[in-house]
Amino acid sequence: MITILKQDATKQQRDNLIKWFEAQGLKVHISEGEFQTVLGLVGDTSRIDDSLIDALDIVERVTRVTESYKAANRKFHPEDTVVSIGDVKIGGGNFAMIAGPCSVESEAQIIEVAESIKASGATLLRGGAFKPRTSPYDFQGMKAEGLELLLEAKAKTGLPIVTEIMNAEHLPLFEDVDVLQVGARNMQNFELLKAVGKTKKPILLKRGLANTLKELLMSAEYIMSEGNENVILCERGIRTFETYTRNTLDLSAIPALREHTHLPIVIDPSHATGKASLVEPMALAAVAAGADGLMIEVHNDPEAALCDGAQSLRPEQFAQLADKVRKIREALV
Ligand code: PEP
Ligand code: MN
Repeated sequence: MITILKQDATKQQRDNLIKWFEAQGLKVHISEGEFQTVLGLVGDTSRIDDSLIDALDIVERVTRVTESYKAANRKFHPEDTVVSIGDVKIGGGNFAMIAGPCSVESEAQIIEVAESIKASGATLLRGGAFKPRTSPYDFQGMKAEGLELLLEAKAKTGLPIVTEIMNAEHLPLFEDVDVLQVGARNMQNFELLKAVGKTKKPILLKRGLANTLKELLMSAEYIMSEGNENVILCERGIRTFETYTRNTLDLSAIPALREHTHLPIVIDPSHATGKASLVEPMALAAVAAGADGLMIEVHNDPEAALCDGAQSLRPEQFAQLADKVRKIREALV
């Protein structure tokens, strides 16, 4: 981190600031130019609030040389992280295909969808039991019963399950869940992030509706700083001025995140577009851009779905998508 002092900073003010930096455990290199003094801070600056320093009367500007996320940073961990979920691996060349309905609705529904996606090559089953809905009057999910049905589908198909947790108090209910999803609306629920960080379970962390990539990485850092390094990042579209699609899929997030982090990157084209007809092309583009996995909503009867039917693929559409994904992946090697 570099702090440039204003020209009129007095020696007393400068010395006070240097003492303060040193008290934070940092080494300070002073370089005095003709017009400006530059303080180079060496050490762990992740706990320093740059905006606080920037606001000081004697400070002209503060620039970070290394990012404040450390555990998620590729600089300190150059190799790709591979997250293991039983026999399923994601990251470092291992591709995961996560599929299933938006919500678990009944035993027949989740078993039928689970069996069909498995037959098409899906490696993980998704399904919401606790649903974060915009309206309190909409279907809120089957809750604990939904989790039971997911476990039943897992027992029948062998597919590990991914499902969203909205409240840390529910953690005991999620004991047998393979991957905990932290949804877009909770990406900055820091207490929830810390709580799931204390578990050893893989966490699928979705990007918030209006969050930057840096904020996504800082949220991953919350989980990792509690000791859980099994974080999978998920881009699911962000809010822009465009209303034709439910959100705008930020595909550049794949190569951009790849440069800055070693964590696996999954794309969810279902929530990104909100339209079943747009899911396949965006999924294929994501694979071509280097995604480590996809998360696709699939329903056996989309017209009758209690949640997100418009963006859900029928099992046969998913089978076709999975086939094309395999072809693109073969072409990439
Ligand atoms: C979901 O995956 O079911 C979901 C609610 O997604 P998001 O948090 O991305 O809106
Ligand atoms: Mn959904």
